[in-house]
Amino acid sequence: MSNRLQSRTLPSVCCVLLASLLAPPALADGEVNIYSARKEDLIKPLLDDFSQQTGITVNLVTGKETELLQRLQSEGINTPADLLLTSDAGRLTAARQAQVLQTIQSEALEKHIPAAYRDPDGYWYGLSVRARPILYAKDRIKPTALSTYEDLAAPRWKGKLCVRSSDSIYNQSLVAGMIAHHGEANTETWAKGLVANFARSPKGGDRDQIKAIAAGECDLTLANTYYLGGMLTSSDQAEQQAATQVAVFWPDAKTTGVHVNVSGAGVTAHAKNRDNAVKLLEFLASDQAQRWYADVNNEYPVNPAIPPSATLKAWGAFKADTLNVAKLGELNAEAIKLMDRAGWK
Ligand code: FE
Repeated sequence: MSNRLQSRTLPSVCCVLLASLLAPPALADGEVNIYSARKEDLIKPLLDDFSQQTGITVNLVTGKETELLQRLQSEGINTPADLLLTSDAGRLTAARQAQVLQTIQSEALEKHIPAAYRDPDGYWYGLSVRARPILYAKDRIKPTALSTYEDLAAPRWKGKLCVRSSDSIYNQSLVAGMIAHHGEANTETWAKGLVANFARSPKGGDRDQIKAIAAGECDLTLANTYYLGGMLTSSDQAEQQAATQVAVFWPDAKTTGVHVNVSGAGVTAHAKNRDNAVKLLEFLASDQAQRWYADVNNEYPVNPAIPPSATLKAWGAFKADTLNVAKLGELNAEAIKLMDRAGWK
């Protein structure tokens, strides 16, 4: 009796297992459709790896964060999307609140992603960590003069601060974190002090604040470190030059820690390829994918087993805020109103 025939006599679960082990990956079926706010070049090589390993075809649609969420909402049950990839816990929470995501329970995801970096109910999972510390002008500010986010509202920093507008989800999430730690009244007093210290009316993105420091318009800003990392390795000489004028200060080391956020993903509420979407999510959180996923955008791996890149290591270790980032999304509306009352344009 041949082995092949013998296998037929085994219980069916064994046969299915055997068949899947013997089948070449390319024959495994199915596809998975992604709506991604993460740019194609920041994800495509990983998706190719995933396809090669599993035989699952990946279809990628990229777009702006708000557009993709609106599209999911308007498509409703007819959406082709199985997985939404976007940045900031504020936006991931907005997607949950818009009911376009579903809960996923997965041992692999829980093992690889610390609880603070995923939705408590499993609607979305963080895949990379970004830090938003203080950046300062190397030639004008002594790091020993810096301490906390709270201190940036002190009168001695009048006219020294450049910050982007309150439309930025990054600033909204930072303020939401302040509310979570210090309460609304204290945070409002702080925000008013911060606004009083602005060197100019908020404009531009994080990179523009770094350039403004280099140009001498201001001495301090709040920015996500991956922008600084991107500028330091930029092919644009002016950008690279500006970035070398600026250094990172990790605030709140003795208290609540540095404000951190995530980019992440959630399986859509009406996913037609749910199992493949979960497989892809688990793949992106795996040790193998995590190193590349974080490094390519100068972010920190969400998976604590993977060390950060050399660029990030050069800025030193820091204490990260341990608040669950989902809280930043929950307090988003409160943060926006507070920034408005504080006159943060
Ligand atoms: Fe960004």
